Amino acid sequence: MAKFIHPVFKYTNEKSGKELDLLAQELDQKVFAKTDCLSCANCCKSAPPIVSKKDIKRIAKFLKTTPKQIERQYVIEDFSGEMSFKSIPCQFLDEQNYCTIYEARPSACRDFPHVHSGNFKGRKKLHSTNSLICPAVEEILDLMVKKLSTAK
Ligand code: SF4
Ligand code: SF4
Repeated sequence: MAKFIHPVFKYTNEKSGKELDLLAQELDQKVFAKTDCLSCANCCKSAPPIVSKKDIKRIAKFLKTTPKQIERQYVIEDFSGEMSFKSIPCQFLDEQNYCTIYEARPSACRDFPHVHSGNFKGRKKLHSTNSLICPAVEEILDLMVKKLSTAK
């Protein structure tokens, strides 16, 4: 089955990477200023984050246990060696949609949904997929379509 690619990527070839990054960052700020992630938590409920050894070490320290124990209990490794949390929804999400390891959460959670992190053009698949998970990303990309399709 073909992967979904958001319509914004029909317009990105005509713009420089820098211009797109600036526009993405501006709209990211605007949309997240009015987004209530606590009433959503869809990312934590549907997209297990990638975790690194450094993340595991930090979480183990926070939970006063060992990295080995964290790996055994919460982490799965795929055939290429990439590690992620194994539960969907995330095992660290509580009933009020708070992250119970917030201070020690993985870098992938801190950076999600990555729209502000630059290289917008090079992250076509990531942003398209995230627009199906995250209502804020969907709104940002839709606003980008509006801006780019009316720009000269
Ligand atoms: S899916 Fe997007 S809007 Fe929802 S909680 Fe995650 S970052 Fe916030
Ligand atoms: S670690 Fe926290 S922020 Fe990351 S997916 Fe789990 S609940 Fe969400």
